[in-house]
Amino acid sequence: MNIVVCISSVPDTTSKINFSENGTTFDSSGIQFIINPYDEFGLTKAMILKENSGGNVTVITVGDATVEPVMRKALAIGADQAVRINRNPKDSYSTATEIAKYLSENPADLIITGRESIDYNGGAVGGMIAEILNVPFVNACNGLEIEGTTAKLSREIDGGKENLSVSLPLVIGGQKGLVEESNLRIPNMRGIMQARTKPLQVIDPSNTDSLTTSEQFEKPAEKSVCKLVEAGNEAELVRLLQEEAKVI
Ligand SMILES: Cc1cc2nc3c(=O)[nH]c(=O)nc-3n(C[C@H](O)[C@H](O)[C@H](O)COP(=O)(O)OP(=O)(O)OC[C@H]3O[C@@H](n4cnc5c(N)ncnc54)[C@H](O)[C@@H]3O)c2cc1C
Repeated sequence: MNIVVCISSVPDTTSKINFSENGTTFDSSGIQFIINPYDEFGLTKAMILKENSGGNVTVITVGDATVEPVMRKALAIGADQAVRINRNPKDSYSTATEIAKYLSENPADLIITGRESIDYNGGAVGGMIAEILNVPFVNACNGLEIEGTTAKLSREIDGGKENLSVSLPLVIGGQKGLVEESNLRIPNMRGIMQARTKPLQVIDPSNTDSLTTSEQFEKPAEKSVCKLVEAGNEAELVRLLQEEAKVI
C-alpha cells in the first residue's frame, strides 16, 4: 500500500509569535519549526500500517529549503522518502493544489493529513486535496485500520463516536487517537543516520494562484497587570470591579 503523509512545518508550541512589516508578515526569526503535531500522529500510524502489512510511506510538504530539517526528522522517524514542492505556502488552496498535482502523477492508496495545522489552523488542505482528486475525505479521524481495500475509520462526534467504512483511495485528516502520544517515535541515532541518505526529492511547483491573501495579522491584547486586594478590603475589590474592570 502506498501511503502519503502531508507534513506541515509549524512553529514549536512554545515559540513566541511575532509579526513584522507592520503586521503583514510572520516573523520566523528565532523560531524552531517542528512537524505539525496532528501530522506526527498520522506519520506514526502510517509507520505502524507499513510494519504490519507492508507498503511504502512518502512524506510530502510544500515549503522552501528551510523546512528540510523537519522533513529529515520525518525520514528519521521511518518514512521511506520525502518530497518537497519548492514553494512558500501562502494559502490552503495553492498548498492543496500543489500536493494534488503530485498525487495525480504519483497515485497513493491512502493520503494522511492532519486535522488542521497548529499555526494557521485552516483545516482546509485535506478536504481540498480530496476534492481536486475526486476521492473521499474524512476529517478528525481518531481511529484507522485497513481491511483489504477498505479503511475502517472512527471519529469523535458530539456525545459519541462515529464508525465509518470508506473505500480506498481516500484522504483523511488525522489527530490523536490514530496513535496515542506514548506511541510517537523519537528518532534514534540509526534513524537519524539513515535519514541522511534517504531520498528527499525537490520538485518545481505549478505555481497555481492563491485564492486568499492575508492582509494583516494581529496578536491578542496583552494580559493586563494582576492587582492584588488586601484580605478584608471588600470595598476596594468592589470599586475595582465596578470602575476598572467594569464587570459589575
Ligand atoms: C514561513 C511560512 C509563511 C507563511 N505565510 C503565510 C501567509 O503569508 N499567508 C497565509 O495565509 N499563510 C501563510 N502560511 C501558511 C500556509 O499558507 C499554510 O501552510 C497553508 O495555508 C495551509 O494552512 P492551513 O492552516 O489551511 O492548513 P490546514 O488545512 O489546517 O492543514 C491541515 C493539514 O494539511 C497539511 N498541510 C498544511 N499545510 C501544508 C504544507 N505546507 N505542506 C504539506 N502539507 C500541508 C498537513 O497535513 C496539515 O496537518 C505560511 C506558512 C509558513 C510556514
